[in-house]
Amino acid sequence: MSTAAPPRRLLLGPGPSNVHPRVRRALAQPMIGHLDPVFLGVLDGVQAGLRRLFGTQNPMTLPLSGTGSAGMEACLVNLLEPGDPVVIGVAGVFGERMCEVARRAGARLTRVDAEPGTILTDDAMAEAIARTRPRVVAFVHAETSTGVAQPVEAIARAAREAGALVVLDCVTSLGGLAVELDAWGIDAAYSGTQKCLSCPPGLSPASFSEAAVARVRARRVPVQSWYLDIGLLGAYFGSERVYHHTAPISMILGLAEALGMIEEEGMPARIERHREASEALVEGIDAFGFRPLVEARHRLPMLTSLRVPARFAPGEEAGLRRRLLDRYGIEVGGGLGPLAGQIWRIGLMGENARLTSVESLFSALRRELA
Ligand code: PLP
Repeated sequence: MSTAAPPRRLLLGPGPSNVHPRVRRALAQPMIGHLDPVFLGVLDGVQAGLRRLFGTQNPMTLPLSGTGSAGMEACLVNLLEPGDPVVIGVAGVFGERMCEVARRAGARLTRVDAEPGTILTDDAMAEAIARTRPRVVAFVHAETSTGVAQPVEAIARAAREAGALVVLDCVTSLGGLAVELDAWGIDAAYSGTQKCLSCPPGLSPASFSEAAVARVRARRVPVQSWYLDIGLLGAYFGSERVYHHTAPISMILGLAEALGMIEEEGMPARIERHREASEALVEGIDAFGFRPLVEARHRLPMLTSLRVPARFAPGEEAGLRRRLLDRYGIEVGGGLGPLAGQIWRIGLMGENARLTSVESLFSALRRELA
């Protein structure tokens, strides 16, 4: 088996996105030790960069070893103990996954559901919070399965007023939309490197407030996961820098470069670039018969969900996606869960949030649908 020449792809699905050559060069640097002072200097920079990107002063801000799901698991298993009441907002597959993780942690779950393609309403969340007085309230900022951008602040306020800690999934939003953990009052948040940060999958940037860390310290029973116990992870990712597990060194070098590139561009310009690309996509895709699933004010810029044209025969959309991949090297995503076969999910994330990506897709569709 050779890995020398994988095909070139334009990755316009729900992630991963394409990786900039600068980040690829950083990933290919010679190995150094995870306790080498030079590497620890890079790690300091990554943690500081993640604090800026997350909009937080939280000391416990770190690149967790694992994908976005590891971040989800870390937030929930650290903050929940068996029997704890939790409210989870479910507006798609990733809210659903949070429920499963919370259930396995032994929490008493109350879920609040939104119709696919719509947001969780402040009122429904506030009602569930007032009724169940949860220890934790969790929901997704950018629901990648539907393309919905969830407003955060009112739900976070209701949770905090009830004394709950707030967990926010920022897997798809971080690096493409404003994330302001401290201003919004979020206690634990996680992301993934393969979306708007344009790194390979493998790390989950995460952040925990002082209140979250205090909650973990005061637990009656140990965190069920040794690997993701943030009390233990603090030994390496805090000031002591002593061994917990071997950090994924190359990935952290890649993330350092990606964060540097984000700072060079500046988040306001990056947010605007995502907005401009998604607007061009929605405007032009109409000509091919695809219509947005989500109403304009709740649409994510980095992930657009589109209803497949009604004239398509069953299975036609999957065939078209396959031809885009095989003939043009363009990957787009299909629907997940209940929306499988009904929608396409087009990602314009990080490096790919450019008009050139949109034009490449349109030109391939023109040939295929002519
Ligand atoms: N949460 C959201 C919103 C996601 O989009 C994803 C992945 O697409 C995840 C969690 C899980 O992340 P991963 O697949 O990196 O484990």
